[in-house]
Amino acid sequence: MPNVLWLQGGACSGNTMSFLNAEEPSAVDLVTDFGFNILWHPSLGMELGENLQALLRACVSGEIPLDVFVFEGTVVNAPNGTGNWNRFAGRPMKDWVRDLANVAQFVVAVGDCATWGGIPANAPNPTDSTGLQFLKREHGGYLGSDFKAKSGLPVINIPGCPAHPDWVTQVLVAVATGRAEDLSLDDLQRPRTFFSSFTQTGCTRNMHFAYKVSATEFGQRKGCLFYDLGCRGPMTHSPCNRILWNRQSSKTRAGMPCLGCTEPEFPFFDLAPGTVFKTQTVMGVPKDLPEGVDKTGYIKLTAAAKTAAPAWAEEDIFVV
Ligand code: SF4
Ligand code: SF4
Repeated sequence: MPNVLWLQGGACSGNTMSFLNAEEPSAVDLVTDFGFNILWHPSLGMELGENLQALLRACVSGEIPLDVFVFEGTVVNAPNGTGNWNRFAGRPMKDWVRDLANVAQFVVAVGDCATWGGIPANAPNPTDSTGLQFLKREHGGYLGSDFKAKSGLPVINIPGCPAHPDWVTQVLVAVATGRAEDLSLDDLQRPRTFFSSFTQTGCTRNMHFAYKVSATEFGQRKGCLFYDLGCRGPMTHSPCNRILWNRQSSKTRAGMPCLGCTEPEFPFFDLAPGTVFKTQTVMGVPKDLPEGVDKTGYIKLTAAAKTAAPAWAEEDIFVV
């Protein structure tokens, strides 16, 4: 029976809300079908006060074996490196994080804040926030670049704002049922099974991307959101169009651009006015091109695409 402990640092609880909506498997399935013992979770835990402190101390001492330590939210270091702006169970949360990470078999960072520092770590980063093992794209973070959990794996990063719930529950099942070796991690310590393809993989607007037919408003049933509305689907690693949200749809299927929330640089362009939901261009060419495509290739490709675009590409053909 794997013991799982979930704590929250500098967080909005979005990943908890997402997790509680998991479907394949659901949070309940983790307990009933996979035998998880959820030691404590901010929305599910029963212990309070001294009882909670005793539980955490028992994990740190090894009296209660900690199989999986899940962390949501940033590690808050302010003020002056003390972490006192985020105290929990009688001490700075960051101190619990260090002690628990050191005894856990697996450490899982859920959501952008825990993985890269997310929005709180954007300049000027008043809370001195960082992710568990990264600060944006820089390796290290709070635990340091050499950190490895007892299993030998570094922090397993499941980014997203929030992370899709089934990415979380499927990773938890893999590590807790002894299939952690199935988890091949990329350079950013994300499981490749989820993060080697792009948001664009499986998007229903791919034909419109290919023919450079643009959507100009949210929710339009035709057109690609890359050319005007700033969609980051071609350069964002996520399975959002393979593992659908609510098992129904995705942002791009519904007509909203991908914001690139699984990448360390999110939110892009520091959310400067005029940069959100608007493709940033230089001389008519997008500043950020599909991964692996250079400017010359892009210009040639889009010129050919425009010429080749069939009349039906401008018709309202979507079933979203
Ligand atoms: S809407 Fe976005 S993800 Fe879909 S095809 Fe266009 S650029 Fe790619
Ligand atoms: S579609 Fe893009 S912004 Fe939306 S959840 Fe997926 S990766 Fe994040």
